Amino acid sequence: MNSTAGTSAVRPAVMAAPTNVLIVGVGGQGVIMVSKILARLSQLQGLQVKQSEVHGMAKRGGSVFSHIRFGNEVWSPTIPMGEADVVLGLEWAEGLRWLRYLKPGVGTFISDTKRIVPPFSCRDRQHDARHGYANHSVAEIVNQVPSAFAPDATGMATQLGNERVANTILLGILSTVMDFPVESWREVLPEFVPPKTVETNLKAFEAGREWTTKPHAPDLNETSVVQHAMPTSRREVNLEITEAWCKSCDICVKMCPERCLALDDHQIVELVKPEACTGCRVCEWLCPDFAIAVHVSSVPIVANQAGVSTEVSA
Ligand code: SF4
Ligand code: SF4
Repeated sequence: MNSTAGTSAVRPAVMAAPTNVLIVGVGGQGVIMVSKILARLSQLQGLQVKQSEVHGMAKRGGSVFSHIRFGNEVWSPTIPMGEADVVLGLEWAEGLRWLRYLKPGVGTFISDTKRIVPPFSCRDRQHDARHGYANHSVAEIVNQVPSAFAPDATGMATQLGNERVANTILLGILSTVMDFPVESWREVLPEFVPPKTVETNLKAFEAGREWTTKPHAPDLNETSVVQHAMPTSRREVNLEITEAWCKSCDICVKMCPERCLALDDHQIVELVKPEACTGCRVCEWLCPDFAIAVHVSSVPIVANQAGVSTEVSA
């Protein structure tokens, strides 16, 4: 779901006090890249910049955050609670977790609505399963925060052909509330993304900016608890294992919540219980060698008048 509320411009160049931007997400989403882009833009404006980040043990899949402060004079590198002009969440639950750092009433909250459920936060990891993880609805948050943007950035990025440019879509949205010239964003972005993805990232940036120009009414009927309605689609999961990259470290085998993986006779990972795999992506996020890619597609299901569900073939 896409949602937005009213906007308020953040004008770093003319503010006496430092501007504070808190960027949060999980490992592998590009929190550090986003903060470097913001730091570079601030430097180009001739502003002092201070950045502090935590990503140590998080590596891939764990919590990562970065404080960016810039202005004419900046002393401390960390943002006090309730002092962030912007909280930028690359993942919904991380965004919510840091919401208390936002300046009450005036701060801008931007977050992807994508939820990455930690491995052991719930027992039932099937799609649409009931769990207690970050279950505030988008509408609840948008209604609480006067300036809030909650796009389905990951969904938009997937449509652009690369799920990983979701962070750039959020940067595009951020660019509409910051007072840096838009041309500076377009110039700086290519310096920080892989050369092969420059074109897609620039498209993603523009898509984020364009998203803010359209109305995105919050779904007021959305509730904070996942509903167990008749499913309308079935998820199909396909695990792509690049055997040549697998270093037999066993991390994915140990961390798969469904115990679907094992090392074969050659100590290479294999999917031994495909029927149990939920497509949670834990193995993909945790593999240090990028040897696993999880592909999830949705197969529509329609119910006939007797209530019997059938799959719709493509
Ligand atoms: S194999 Fe990977 S995607 Fe499937 S349940 Fe295990 S960790 Fe999740
Ligand atoms: S985490 Fe990656 S490298 Fe380690 S066993 Fe699994 S696939 Fe192989």
